[in-house]
Amino acid sequence: MHFFTALFAGALLIGLALQLWLLRRQIRAVRAHRDRVPPPFAGAISAADHARAADYTIAQSNVASAERLSSAAILAILTLGGGLAAVDSWTLTTGLEGLPRQVAVVMTVLLLALFAGLPFEAWRTFRIESRFGFNRTTPALFVVDQLKGLAVGGGLLLPLAAYLLWLMPRAGQQWWLWAWGAWALVSILIGWAWPRLIAPWFNRFHELEEGALRTAVETLARRCGFEPRGVMVMDGSRRSSHGNAYFTGFGRTKRIVFFDTLLDTLAPDEIQAVLAHELGHFRLHHVALRIAGSLAAALAGFALLAWLARQSWFQPALGVPDGGPHTLLLLFVLAAPVFLLPVGPLFAWLSRRHEFAADRYAARHANARSLANALVSLYRENATTLTPDPFYTAFHASHPPALERIARLLPAPGK
Ligand SMILES: [Zn+2]
Repeated sequence: MHFFTALFAGALLIGLALQLWLLRRQIRAVRAHRDRVPPPFAGAISAADHARAADYTIAQSNVASAERLSSAAILAILTLGGGLAAVDSWTLTTGLEGLPRQVAVVMTVLLLALFAGLPFEAWRTFRIESRFGFNRTTPALFVVDQLKGLAVGGGLLLPLAAYLLWLMPRAGQQWWLWAWGAWALVSILIGWAWPRLIAPWFNRFHELEEGALRTAVETLARRCGFEPRGVMVMDGSRRSSHGNAYFTGFGRTKRIVFFDTLLDTLAPDEIQAVLAHELGHFRLHHVALRIAGSLAAALAGFALLAWLARQSWFQPALGVPDGGPHTLLLLFVLAAPVFLLPVGPLFAWLSRRHEFAADRYAARHANARSLANALVSLYRENATTLTPDPFYTAFHASHPPALERIARLLPAPGK
């Protein structure tokens, strides 16, 4: 056995064990605190709501465990089990040749990965979200969403894959720099076009209705240097009753989006505080920083890919004895996450820092008490657990736990 086969198998197993262990810890932490609302929330969240959030988190964590197991098994089958090699030799019988055949292999494997994830997504939507009263997605809408997602994903990924596969044998030693350039261009284009061109295909967006709230929102946005027309409401209620708000895009497409469900839940001062938090993400350049970070990571990724392309052991060690550039690309995309598992917590930590920074910005430009109240309402309405496991949070959470956020927003007197 090649050393890299052993390394990959070991990393895959250790990674899977780590993820399942973290999910077990999360379930245990939530279950242990299920019957007692943490004191700071005692007045705001009822025992019944708290127990419901625990049950919801446990149900989600159980599906996540099953999904981790399934995707590790599929990854092992595709690589060491010879699945990718089988798909590759199957396409030789279809009469396709050259670049079209290579693109067909990439497409087949991406479709397989998509189908493997579908049962879990359907389970989450129609069993868990329905059981806890969140789901409003009909089976028809679910199917349409999947098809649209496939069209968007395929429309973006396949031309990019075809370009990379065309480039690799033609652009000489420095092909990976050209490849990264194309990648960067597509990423920036998507970041720019998503809010205006792609998101409206899935949801309807409109401006806030005229009235006191809109006036207040416009004043606050202007004061923070944000074009008020960029504040939009989205019909999130089409799919679920979860409420949320986010900041996206850059340049002239930047937007702050409120789910209609969030506007129904929160009081006007709380909505302004949430807006101030999103404005914080805008003023502190969090979207641009995230894109810059992912472009730097992609540059390192392409450099590594170019090096691996010259290593004759790489593909055979992962179950493809005589592959081409297309199987190299697929093996890289499949295997990289296994080795990148330790990077996840770093990005989660950065994301949590951004959330704290946006909270501080909101406390300066709106009302810290209102933001804390808004957070409590959102935690209650979304059935988000108040008592996550600290290890699980450190590893996965993009947002800090409620207790920590509120403790920083409203420091206890004397501290
Ligand atoms: Zn945020």
